[in-house]
Amino acid sequence: MPVPKLIFSPSETDKKVSYPQLIQTLTDSQFIEPDANKKNQYYAGNKFLNLITFLGCSPNINLSPADGEDHCIISLIEQTTATKCLGYTQTANPKCPACTKRISNWKTADWQKPDSFCVCDKCQTQTRYADLNWKHECGFGRCGFEISHIYPHEAVPTDQLLSALKQLCEFAWQYCYADN
Ligand SMILES: [Zn+2]
Repeated sequence: MPVPKLIFSPSETDKKVSYPQLIQTLTDSQFIEPDANKKNQYYAGNKFLNLITFLGCSPNINLSPADGEDHCIISLIEQTTATKCLGYTQTANPKCPACTKRISNWKTADWQKPDSFCVCDKCQTQTRYADLNWKHECGFGRCGFEISHIYPHEAVPTDQLLSALKQLCEFAWQYCYADN
């Protein structure tokens, strides 16, 4: 069974960030514990639940190994030279940025490859897959971080977290869910 994730990456999908600075920002805001659990993996920090809002009634979120195996771990995504698909949900169905309608038959054999283009069946506009409106159900990028054991639409980041990330690198960040 794939582990469900909440993934963060720069909105401009070809941007890179400095990981030492990213770790500093996440540590300063107490989103993560300062000491890495494993290389590029971190436990949730003291303010994790102030920076991520869990939706629905009384969510049972495990934040440390003492809570059970399915606890949240924050992991840095390995940086790549090309923009790639970082994850997606089984219900992903992108919208065309030109006509804003949902695109039928978008899932081609090459859709996850860097710089593949999607042709809208409604208005014929060609868009890079990375630039479609995925409604948080798919993300592309070269870097970022992910939180394990968060199910699609179970939680959303606060504005405080997103603005801390924006301050770090002067461009906005996006988030998506994945259960692939
Ligand atoms: Zn269109």
